[in-house]
Amino acid sequence: MNHSQSKALFSRAQETIPGGVNSPVRAFRGVGGEPVFFKEGAGAWLTDVDNNRYVDLVGSWGPLILGHAWPPVVAAITEAARLGSSFGAPTEAEVRFAELICATVPSVEKVRLVSSGTEATVAAIRLARGFTGRDYILKFEGCFHGAGDPFLVKAGSGVETLGLPDSPGVPAAVAGLTLTAPYNDLGAVEKLFAERGKDIACAIIEPVVGNMGVLIPEEGYLQGLQALCRAHGVLFVLDEVMTGFRLARGGAQEVYGLRPDLSTFGKVIGGGLPLAAYGGRRDVMSKVAPEGPVYQSGTLSGNPVAVAAGLASLQALRSPGVYERLDSIGRELEAGLRAEAEEARVPVTINRVGSMFTVFFTEGPVFDYASAKKSDTARYGRFFHQMLEEGVYLPPSQFESAFLSLSINEPEVAHILRAARRAFRALGTA
Ligand code: PMP
Repeated sequence: MNHSQSKALFSRAQETIPGGVNSPVRAFRGVGGEPVFFKEGAGAWLTDVDNNRYVDLVGSWGPLILGHAWPPVVAAITEAARLGSSFGAPTEAEVRFAELICATVPSVEKVRLVSSGTEATVAAIRLARGFTGRDYILKFEGCFHGAGDPFLVKAGSGVETLGLPDSPGVPAAVAGLTLTAPYNDLGAVEKLFAERGKDIACAIIEPVVGNMGVLIPEEGYLQGLQALCRAHGVLFVLDEVMTGFRLARGGAQEVYGLRPDLSTFGKVIGGGLPLAAYGGRRDVMSKVAPEGPVYQSGTLSGNPVAVAAGLASLQALRSPGVYERLDSIGRELEAGLRAEAEEARVPVTINRVGSMFTVFFTEGPVFDYASAKKSDTARYGRFFHQMLEEGVYLPPSQFESAFLSLSINEPEVAHILRAARRAFRALGTA
């Protein structure tokens, strides 16, 4: 494959943009080499600036559950833009959007719209602190909740990919208020809560983790965590930025039968535009300004173009059988990838929940931060580049989830598995 235009753009970009990218994992540091610059997406397929084509398994890191440029979403965006791109004042569409979220996710009684997942998680923990009067928060090792200061402690995603355990610029006094525990270890939380429970405002968790690669909650883990939170007056905050409207219409909380005090959403709810949300218990959400004293605001919050894209996407996800279809495509790919790896004698662990999956290059099992880090990231990098050459765009880091879309059909599955056969064989002989 020729990447000359991408290379030229990347070298130009580095002159004016830090690292040449507007978000770190895009730079391919996790896999080596240089990023591909894209110019077009249509359904399951991406076209780069050198006219190479790829089946997209990133989907803009989760939002594009329908695929690229889904016609009803494009139409909704066009129509909304024609009517004015922003008012900084209320619109009917945002009321409909809030009603739709509250009707779909029973734990969400009131919801506030924001423009990014980071804004949603930062606001949620501020609210938890304001509501409980407690300063500490608990997060889980390797989970990522966006780039807010309190979360850049033992974080996953790009922080893990770049090996930046503690970011300069986050004051020790702020980082010191973030307590951590290993994922999938209830005993650790029990012990921590026994000692510090009354100081902790909330526990925030990715129910199914995407940001160390995919980790699956052990049976009873999330329910147990919710119960421990209740027992200690710690708010249970489910970060559904990745999982919301992706694993089921009602998100991971529907799948695992949870009722969090607060939830955060992003990605899928915006249909590829900047839109996110936090919401939950009525008494807690009533503390948000102007109804209550906990401040949070945004110039473009509830932006009409973003809300139109979100409404059109969520509408499409109401069609019967969409989540079953995503799961069956996922199951077929998982089985196919496992068979190809076995055939080539490459040891892998594949973790998958519905349309989120990761191929870890380790015998596994992979169930927490420590076990995820045993994966051979250099091998992942070689696999990634081989797949890229074969026309499949995987996440450019071992510590990220791949995402399936409803635009992936049998021809794309066959294309991915053909590519994987060659890629695993190349690794097997390397
Ligand atoms: N929470 C989770 C679980 C995420 O995966 C992400 C982003 N990948 C965020 C929060 C932050 O969202 P954003 O990038 O929109 O700020």
